[in-house]
Amino acid sequence: MRTTFLGTGTSHGVPEIGCRCAVCTSTNPKDQRLRSSLLIEQGPKRLLIDASSDFRQQALRHDIDDLSDILITHTHADHILGLDDTRIYSRRSKRPITLYLNQRSDRRIRQLFDYAYDDSVHQGGDLPKFENRIIEAGWPFSLGDLNISAIDLFHGKLPILGYRINDLAYLTDCSSIPEHSYQCLEDLDILILDALRTKPHTTHFCLEEAIGEARKIGARQTYFIHMAHALDHDQTNRHLPLTMQLAHDGLVLGS
Ligand SMILES: [Zn+2]
Ligand SMILES: [Zn+2]
Ligand SMILES: [Zn+2]
Repeated sequence: MRTTFLGTGTSHGVPEIGCRCAVCTSTNPKDQRLRSSLLIEQGPKRLLIDASSDFRQQALRHDIDDLSDILITHTHADHILGLDDTRIYSRRSKRPITLYLNQRSDRRIRQLFDYAYDDSVHQGGDLPKFENRIIEAGWPFSLGDLNISAIDLFHGKLPILGYRINDLAYLTDCSSIPEHSYQCLEDLDILILDALRTKPHTTHFCLEEAIGEARKIGARQTYFIHMAHALDHDQTNRHLPLTMQLAHDGLVLGS
């Protein structure tokens, strides 16, 4: 299984517009973060987690020329506004993209992208086409050789989904993990976890909280994502435990 970090930044991205701080003006490419999303490839199967507001740029950068399935974590703008750009794949394949998502995300995406579901809303031009499959934690399913389970998380008060795919888990945008979710996080090779910044935040783990969760979950390797401009890539990584590091855009795991 090959995993590509398409984006590792928070909702503003890094650099933040108009900011002159050390990280926003850094010349280290690892300090430049598009909005968070992950690409998983296994054999002929290509799977995306979220379609970020930077998806077009990410697809061009990584030559994503075909796509059939997207796992949706939640519907904040930074995670779904790239959905419209997936219409190129439906046009070529003449098939809808399958979105896996919870009930709340299903409702929201049907409102925002009504033209993708109802031909009478807008005619002409290339329209995205989606087929929604509602999933819940505890309903595992497979796509090719990928075994997938949704994981309940809280993003502040908002219930959202993380995902386990084989021995990798992707937990973005979370500030607490309900007790029942830990059983789905046992014996992981790779944990990918939200770590927004050093200061605490109401809807995201800060770095210290993320380190505590990573220790509790005990994956063989943990990568932090969804970072804001407060975290300098190299400086932060120098101080992290050996089994943990900040991810960066373009990082590829596996082959
Ligand atoms: Zn986000
Ligand atoms: Zn900045
Ligand atoms: Zn969010």
